[in-house]
Amino acid sequence: MAGKKIVVLGTGGTIAGRAASAFDNVGYQSAQLGVAKLLQGLPALAGLEVEAEQVTQIDSKDMDFAVWVALAQRCAHWLAREDVAGLVVTHGTDTMEETAFFLQALLAPAKPVVLTGAMRPATSAGADGPQNLADALAVAATPGARGVCVAFAGTLHGAHDVAKAHNYRLAAFTSGDAGPLAYIEEGRLRQLRAWPAGEPMRTLASLRAPADWPRVEIVWSYAGATGSTVRALVADGVRGLVVAGTGNGSLHHALEEALLHAQPAGVVVRRTTRCAEGVVIATAGDRLAAVGLSPVKARIALILELMH
Ligand code: ASP
Repeated sequence: MAGKKIVVLGTGGTIAGRAASAFDNVGYQSAQLGVAKLLQGLPALAGLEVEAEQVTQIDSKDMDFAVWVALAQRCAHWLAREDVAGLVVTHGTDTMEETAFFLQALLAPAKPVVLTGAMRPATSAGADGPQNLADALAVAATPGARGVCVAFAGTLHGAHDVAKAHNYRLAAFTSGDAGPLAYIEEGRLRQLRAWPAGEPMRTLASLRAPADWPRVEIVWSYAGATGSTVRALVADGVRGLVVAGTGNGSLHHALEEALLHAQPAGVVVRRTTRCAEGVVIATAGDRLAAVGLSPVKARIALILELMH
């Protein structure tokens, strides 16, 4: 372990949410309690110092590029310190997989950055936040841990594969057919796969101001799809389009035709699948490039790619 300190960065979410009744798990207000408050009452980790910093306080459905940059900057700041072993980020579940992918793409950290949150607000009689946070701290303090991951409901997921798969259940996250990185049991890891690794796609310093990020939108293929959304987006100045195709990234012919016309107009198109599991398998005859990511993650990768 590089150091003895774990820094917990708060961004809001249901884990910091409050409801009027202890039995109301949907009619609550997200992002109400400070991150220092969330840490109160958690069991101390032997020999570890925990420091808290509030980066923002939002419902993660409202996540935006400016918050991502601010969070990445705070992560980079703390990761560079020798006395810091790892980071925990408390975050709403709605866009947690996007933030995890963004941070891994940008930082590819050699120390652990563990995102966590909750499906029930802090005021719930069955709040899951405290256990998730204790598990995330345990992961961040594990010698040899590295990369951006999500600790949730006793399971650890890597940034590349993690996705929110359920709107209500406590075990809301999955790694799909890739499988989880580890299980977290009584503060110990039962590791199944290697830690997230690789090189950053871009450096923090090379990012444009958030207002200047290339606009990339997602369109879907489905029965009766047309090309009209694509044409409207191209006319509106979109720089990139990710299409969530059916099955192995197949597209309704009307949508495909509009996307093929968008490319010579300077729009970069990437093909993914709307299937919850698996990634598109490219073939020699592909006219639109496939990418082995979920649609929301392919969008982030394309934004970073287009940010020359
Ligand atoms: N809407 C909430 C958010 O993403 C849901 C959650 O935190 O679980 O912040």
